[in-house]
Amino acid sequence: MAKKFADTQNLIIVNTCCVTKEAEIKSLRKFRSAKRQYSDHKVIATGCACRLAPEKFHSADQVIDNVQRNEFIKGIFPEPEKSRYFLKIQDGCNGKCSYCIVAKMRDTVESKSIEEIVKEIKWAVSRGYQEVVLVGANIGLYGYDIGLQLIDLPKALSKISGLPRLRLSSLEPNFVNEDLIRCLKDLPFCRHFHLPVQSADNSILVAMKRQYDIVYLEKIVSLIAKSFTDVAIGADIIVGFPGEMEHEFDNTYKFIKGQPFTHLHVFPYSPRPLTSAYILGDPIDRRTKRQRLWQLKDLIKEKNHEFRKSLLGKSFDVVIEGSDSVPKGLTDNYIRVFIDGACKTKRVFVKVNRVTDDKTFGTVDNA
Ligand code: SF4
Repeated sequence: MAKKFADTQNLIIVNTCCVTKEAEIKSLRKFRSAKRQYSDHKVIATGCACRLAPEKFHSADQVIDNVQRNEFIKGIFPEPEKSRYFLKIQDGCNGKCSYCIVAKMRDTVESKSIEEIVKEIKWAVSRGYQEVVLVGANIGLYGYDIGLQLIDLPKALSKISGLPRLRLSSLEPNFVNEDLIRCLKDLPFCRHFHLPVQSADNSILVAMKRQYDIVYLEKIVSLIAKSFTDVAIGADIIVGFPGEMEHEFDNTYKFIKGQPFTHLHVFPYSPRPLTSAYILGDPIDRRTKRQRLWQLKDLIKEKNHEFRKSLLGKSFDVVIEGSDSVPKGLTDNYIRVFIDGACKTKRVFVKVNRVTDDKTFGTVDNA
């Protein structure tokens, strides 16, 4: 958007989110503080919160909600000041998950064509990005609107030379299958999967209107684990969904503990307007939600430490981030590693030689 407004002086663009109540409140706070602090600037509000409640942003000089924004920036490639390039391959979801406002704000699936994606990847490579992360509201639905499926994308990419390192962002468990895994293995895809599991209790999964049960989840996680060595597997979990009793939370806890998860994002449930679960209210108290959240956070801290210890002595493909005096970068299996000594290039092999409970260290491996 900044590129599109390149000729406008003194401009502030506030990107807003409404995925949780907290995100919505923070967005509004940012918008109000931008208005206050930069009263002589033009302030534009954009994003999903503007679609949910445009009246809250009435004092903006311009409101461009998420749907209008997709149109507005069509064909423009972003240029983030990062070493990794986030390429949006699709937007929108037609799912019916009972807690989810995303599918209400972005209800139309819109995918970029394979040609557009290839063009954007080549552009990212020409600008020096070492990794391209494929992102979207629900990337499993890639191609739904243009007669394709997600698997068609890696199949097409396998015919392209000079690909950078590729990574999939969050992928719904119901879109993971053996064929997709086989295609990804033929490409420079990162050994990293992030699954929005949300709960590992069958009755809560039904109440959430998710498309799978525990038996299926177990099958998918073990398929990923046996297909790639040293693979990172992350998950999103919502704690405190209405009606989540202690034993149902325990089922989720035990599942995460027993499966090879390495990363976790835990969210306390937040009722969102327009969703079907909204009428259930928010019966689980804040304290219980915080307790469950910290139980899972403590668990994953331990599991992540164990995972990183298992990497000692091994070498990994690392994309260097930033330009700090102590170089650091991200391995393909999603570990941030601090590197002893200088790095001459933006992508190096690093041997992991020391691991603490929250940090990983290594040296450039020239072997
Ligand atoms: S699949 Fe994801 S984006 Fe779609 S409705 Fe469910 S939670 Fe929302």
